[in-house]
Amino acid sequence: MRFFFLFLPIFLFAQAHIFVLHRIDDFRYPYTNTPSKELEKYLKYLKEHDYKVVKLSTLVKLIKEKKPLNKIVVFTIDDSYKSFYKNGLPLFKKYQYPFTLFVYTKATTQHWGDFMNWKQVKECAKYGELGVHSWAHPHLPMLSNKEIIKDTKKAINAFKKYVGYVPKMYAYPYGEYNERVKKIINKFFPIITNQNVGAIDYTSQINDLDRIALTGKVNFLEKLKLKKLHLKNLTIKKNKNKIIEISGTLEENLPYVYIYITSLGWKKIKTQNKSFSYTPNFNLRKYRNRIIIRYNYKIISKLILKEEK
Ligand SMILES: [Zn+2]
Repeated sequence: MRFFFLFLPIFLFAQAHIFVLHRIDDFRYPYTNTPSKELEKYLKYLKEHDYKVVKLSTLVKLIKEKKPLNKIVVFTIDDSYKSFYKNGLPLFKKYQYPFTLFVYTKATTQHWGDFMNWKQVKECAKYGELGVHSWAHPHLPMLSNKEIIKDTKKAINAFKKYVGYVPKMYAYPYGEYNERVKKIINKFFPIITNQNVGAIDYTSQINDLDRIALTGKVNFLEKLKLKKLHLKNLTIKKNKNKIIEISGTLEENLPYVYIYITSLGWKKIKTQNKSFSYTPNFNLRKYRNRIIIRYNYKIISKLILKEEK
């Protein structure tokens, strides 16, 4: 019995969740808007159920130090919209919850109508922390290496000029990246967030942190139940824009997994000796495509882009 704990697999431990918000009470944009009424419900639930809301940098510290991630929640805010400053910030202040704001530096520097100015961004920083969300909000996988570096340096310089320091955190515009993009961005920022649905545990990479979007009206409790599905390996075999095969090996014995591909939907795939193989032979239709692998609340997802450099 004394060896019992050695055999406890890592996926039995509780997991943290990183959420992403964009606009608050800006109903012109339903795909990026969260009603403040909904946001307040989430914050209230977390408060009443003793969740701990922390900054992204705090979560990263907990991951590195292998501290408990039980009931840890992070809110990240992308794009530095004025609607967050107006309708979101007061709620975070009210509940005394910190957040991590990823600044769209070009929009903020050039005073674009929907965006906060640097003074407002710095005021937000008092109640949370700041991260970088590129300079021009490009589709990074469509850019050359040189162009990615140029955009990143512009964002860094804006932070140096207007804030006086450069954050260690970066959020990909549109959540879009690939290995090439990641390698370049990671040279400038140790902590990177994507927009792949998933939960966070000790196996999460701090330069590839999954985030769950809270847009419109969502079932927040269901999102809090999500756990990371652990794979020993995952292979997505492609021929140009055709997905030939999705295969992998699970860390634990599950009877089946559900696999989702954008424009194709879900398919139940039986496993054999923890392994699964799905051969959809499917031509991607959209530019952005999600592949989600799921078993009950255990989930992992990947973003596949149709055309890129
Ligand atoms: Zn954005």
